[in-house]
Amino acid sequence: MARVLNFNPGPATLPLAALERAQKEFTDYKGTGMSILEHSHRGKDYDAVHNEAIGLLRELLDVPDDYHVLFLQGGASQQFAVVPMNLLPEGKSADYIVTGAWGKKAFAEAQIVGKARLAATTAADNFVRLPKQEELDLDSNAAYVHFTSNETINGVQYLDKFPETGSVPLVCDMSSDFLWRKFDVRKFGLIYAGAQKNIGPSGVTCVLVRKDLVEAGRTDIPKIFRYKTQADANSLANTAPTFSIYLMRNVLQWVKDSGGLEQIEKWNREKGRLVYSFLDENKDYFKSPVQVDYRSVMNIVFRLPTPELEAKLVAEAAAAGFVGLKGHRSVGGIRISAYNAISVEAIQKLLAYLKDFAAKNG
Ligand SMILES: *Cc1c(COP(=O)(O)O)cnc(C)c1O
Repeated sequence: MARVLNFNPGPATLPLAALERAQKEFTDYKGTGMSILEHSHRGKDYDAVHNEAIGLLRELLDVPDDYHVLFLQGGASQQFAVVPMNLLPEGKSADYIVTGAWGKKAFAEAQIVGKARLAATTAADNFVRLPKQEELDLDSNAAYVHFTSNETINGVQYLDKFPETGSVPLVCDMSSDFLWRKFDVRKFGLIYAGAQKNIGPSGVTCVLVRKDLVEAGRTDIPKIFRYKTQADANSLANTAPTFSIYLMRNVLQWVKDSGGLEQIEKWNREKGRLVYSFLDENKDYFKSPVQVDYRSVMNIVFRLPTPELEAKLVAEAAAAGFVGLKGHRSVGGIRISAYNAISVEAIQKLLAYLKDFAAKNG
């Protein structure tokens, strides 16, 4: 079997254990004579998977009882619109902290739905840093404050402290770093994350949301877009993305079997330390644009001396079994997406390859 080392930003590599479990169960799920894809979303077999996935998420993150765990469709991009549709009423405004390409899109969508204000942006610095708390221009009457915990394209991440917003609910797009470590869910009013970066395949978006915010949500929007509709139905108001949720369940079980989020965080921090020390030791050749305190451990972006060398690296590395290293088309360069399913060993192999490449193409 020839599996490559896959550094794609999303859909991204998945733990082999999660894929093999799906393979084993694929054509005959638990002796039912059909795959889980073919089961009714209202049947007891699928229901067990659905609730197991919710239970695992609750357990891994200690999700408090006054939060819903929702599994929705439409990706994180749909949440850019659905968050303000639900949480931003007439006469109120929402604050947006824009630290990269995804935050910019979220802000633009919110402005279509209602009144949204820019509380801070690092656009003038090309998104190579995050704003400090004292730089935030926060409205104490805002409906919520939205930010992006990890900017997948720009490679900046909130590694320690999140923005402080007092009593104003904090809303976070955690698509590319959800479950990279444990965090205190209570700091947030709402968190959303498309699964296909760090916790599963595409097709399902996790939302953790405080129950009182759901209850207070707007009712002048179509029912299908109300959080309450899915919250009241345990995310089964209509047909759920059953196979995506099933696979996410397998990934969550792998996280638990690996030692939980404490172990996952240790690996992720070690991977980040290895890559950035390598880049810093070889900074004549590899240039990391992001300021040290904000360097993402999930998406590591850097430049080579020329765009031609970058293209050469992407192509030659792929031929050698290291795929998905091309930076996003909007920013260029190289990007290593080092999500949970990328092992420390995979990073060590990649760094040895990069060292060799630099020596040969100096
Ligand atoms: C990928 C990504 C999105 C968009 O996700 P879709 O599921 O494709 O809509 C939004 N935000 C962040 C931070 C992302 O990484």
